[in-house]
Amino acid sequence: MTAPQGKRSTLDLIGNTPLVLLKGPSEAAGCEIWGKCEFANPGASVKDRAALWIVRDSEARGTLKPGGTIVEGTAGNTGIGLALVANALGYKTVIVMPETQSREKMDTLRALGAELVLVPAAPFSNPGHFVHTSRRLAEETEGAVWANQFDNIANRKAHIESTAPELWEQMGGRIDGFTCAAGTGGTIAGTGMGLKALDEKVTIALTDPHGAALYNYYAHGELKAEGSSVAEGIGQGRITANLDSAPIDTQFRISDEEGLEWVTRLLAEEGLCLGLSSGINVAGAVALGRKLVAQGKKDARVATILADTGFRYLSTLYNQAWLEAKGLPVFPWLAR
Ligand code: PMP
Repeated sequence: MTAPQGKRSTLDLIGNTPLVLLKGPSEAAGCEIWGKCEFANPGASVKDRAALWIVRDSEARGTLKPGGTIVEGTAGNTGIGLALVANALGYKTVIVMPETQSREKMDTLRALGAELVLVPAAPFSNPGHFVHTSRRLAEETEGAVWANQFDNIANRKAHIESTAPELWEQMGGRIDGFTCAAGTGGTIAGTGMGLKALDEKVTIALTDPHGAALYNYYAHGELKAEGSSVAEGIGQGRITANLDSAPIDTQFRISDEEGLEWVTRLLAEEGLCLGLSSGINVAGAVALGRKLVAQGKKDARVATILADTGFRYLSTLYNQAWLEAKGLPVFPWLAR
């Protein structure tokens, strides 16, 4: 008889996600494209890692004390990750979000036990913006810390210390290219830094959606956005502290239509139900794979992030009326 093989804590379920070879994208790129299954985290997204590292960092600094409260301005995956981690460690969660967010997200956060504070939608320059509101609320609340995912580099540390070494090991100690999109930038910067520390020859590419300013920043040195995107969780207009010194070698700009095409194909052909940021990441990985092959790396190995589950978007991305209203193509099997 041996000891049970399971994890000793639910928090140990965060990370160590599987890696899967994506057949269609590999064929399209002419080399291997691998997807890191971040939807397999307990909160069903890549943001569980940032949530855990931010909470552990606050504990280590002594700012978060037993029974304390974690406050964050977020509408989505970070709030879900924080709420689960907080429950597991005995903390409370307060999530500030704009009242324009989907009903689904509000219901999910409430269902997990987070306290929701709704504020009117406002530009970032307005003190009433949900991010500023969350900071003030954290300052005013006894025993509270502000998670501050955009500028708290415990976020990217999660990826330096977990995502990058996991990928390295799972890829057998050779990765030629890594790419993903940026929301806070924690994933691209942290995974990029962690991989470069293991092998400085790995090409790190930023995959930017339309409507974000980073493509132009890395390509031409100017923060300038063009177009728009309906993808949630990605698209950044400034160099956050997490993005500062990110080792970006090259960049791609990917449209919602291209991302959606991979979301459709990965579901129909490979049985993976993903959110739009994952489709955009995969389109970027195909572009990076083609570029490496064109440079003579015929057997290039490229990895990207499958950031969250499509089950989170049943009333949007997977809904005929919503897709039509956004002018996006409807999945053939939905258009009945
Ligand atoms: N995809 C989704 C669905 C997300 O919620 C996020 C987090 N904002 C990202 C991608 C981007 O991750 P990061 O914040 O690490 O840049």
